[in-house]
Amino acid sequence: MYALPGDPVGDIVNGWAEAGMKMISVRHEQTAGMAAQAHSYFTRSVGVCVAASGVGQTNTMTAIANAQINCWPLLVIGGASELRRRNMGDFQELAQLESTAPLCKWAYTVESTERIPNLINIAMREALAGRPGPVYLDLPADMISGTVDESIVEIPEPHTEPARPLAEPDKVKQALEVLKGAERPLLIVGKGAAWSWAENELLEFVDKTQIPYLTSPMGSGMLPPNNPLNVSSARTQALQGADVVLLVGARMNWIFHFGQPPRFAEEYKLIQVDIEPTEIGRNHPAEVGLVGDAKMVMGQLVEALADNPVVFPETDWLGGLTEKARQNAETIEPMLNSDFEQIGYYRILKEIRDYMPEDSIVVADGASTMDISRQVIPIHNPRGRIDAGVAGCVGTGVPFSIAAKVVNPDTPVVCLQGDWAFGFNGMDIETAARFGLNVVWVIFQNANIDKWVRTYVDGVEDPNDFKPSVRFDQMMEALGGHGEYVDKPDDIRPALDRAFNSGKAAVVNVIMDPGASRRPQQFAWLAREGRMGY
Ligand code: ADP
Repeated sequence: MYALPGDPVGDIVNGWAEAGMKMISVRHEQTAGMAAQAHSYFTRSVGVCVAASGVGQTNTMTAIANAQINCWPLLVIGGASELRRRNMGDFQELAQLESTAPLCKWAYTVESTERIPNLINIAMREALAGRPGPVYLDLPADMISGTVDESIVEIPEPHTEPARPLAEPDKVKQALEVLKGAERPLLIVGKGAAWSWAENELLEFVDKTQIPYLTSPMGSGMLPPNNPLNVSSARTQALQGADVVLLVGARMNWIFHFGQPPRFAEEYKLIQVDIEPTEIGRNHPAEVGLVGDAKMVMGQLVEALADNPVVFPETDWLGGLTEKARQNAETIEPMLNSDFEQIGYYRILKEIRDYMPEDSIVVADGASTMDISRQVIPIHNPRGRIDAGVAGCVGTGVPFSIAAKVVNPDTPVVCLQGDWAFGFNGMDIETAARFGLNVVWVIFQNANIDKWVRTYVDGVEDPNDFKPSVRFDQMMEALGGHGEYVDKPDDIRPALDRAFNSGKAAVVNVIMDPGASRRPQQFAWLAREGRMGY
């Protein structure tokens, strides 16, 4: 449970502690909601966020929206004004249920204390079933403080592992037939597959078929980054050239350019694996729709290969993609190794890449930081990267890192954080320090909001510029952690080393070139089309 235990949820929090359960108390309800959903993602269960009434509860809304857009389960319990005093102007009385429900899979107000266990159980089912998502339970103060005869309270069996539906068997055969006809096949893996823990089945499928693959930002790590079949570094060419696309647990939304030209070919065949039937054929018609759980469906496909093998030989298609990936890597090489005294994104990321062990968890927050880090830092383990994903929500870095460390105390967690993004929930680095969560936040301090929203008026100070060289490292130290201030490229690595070895929550505050940017794009429309550059 991640909570900000104001009135009237104190009793819930106390009960939780009495039951010997762990709670992380935070400094802002948004942090609680975001940490809880990351907890869900890492554990394949439902993270819980508890917030106080009224405006305390509305502070969780952005977190709820982020969970909904990214298809992550989350249970938010909002304390609320007393039922018996509704419409009387009670303390923090607000239309919580009405305003929150549109963002949720399910939302309900508790109207009698004895139903609480039952409603929690229903909330869990709703959050986990099919496509996961956020749920909200409104808990009026008089329902929390009410007493009931325990003999009438029904306590249901806990709802745990979500169902794993299989796809229709005929469609599985059909999918292999379509794949067999492919000249330029491509497998795309998204975070729905990561949520499903489909990594073993995906790897077996790739080994058997030799299909080239790429991933979404959070699909990375589901398949090995160093395999020659990984064509992520030739993404544009792969998407444009593919004649059959197998899409597993990802949507043809803006991250994949709606599956439409100019990023994709005019004509290509789409095989889609998704647990949500309404997703099949959205934005591009699906030749075959495999509705089911990614792990199960990939298992079905692997099994079907035994009778109906599909093996893609090495062709010009893969050769061309490999060559393009090599060229792209060459383009960024000078930036990775730049000794230029004004530090750029690539140099910091290269130092982090070379320093971090392969089993690390990488959290990324802030537009350029998210985007460029994908090109530079390979992810070796499933669910090894978490970022704002589809929502483009800034400020997730601190809460996601807290949850990553709560769930994986022995795994190194690094958060790549723009200074603008850090501002959103930055105060909660104190929470990490207080709970002994030794996350290392690397702050990419370019002291401005990114270029595309900057105004260029000669002689006028840019209102988007922040005060340069802010001492976030000193802030961390004042709050009980370890701080490092870096303004020379060669000092990045030793600072990382000291931060990780401090064993404390730490900030490595890197002062950057205020004009630093991503590598130039080959086509102007690449920069224009994908607003976030994904
Ligand atoms: P990404 O950000 O990685 O591109 P998206 O959030 O766009 O991924 O898409 C994730 C997709 O995965 C959603 O359409 C969701 O319905 C689907 N999904 C969620 N859980 C599962 C599952 N267990 N099996 C298959 N698909 C799933």
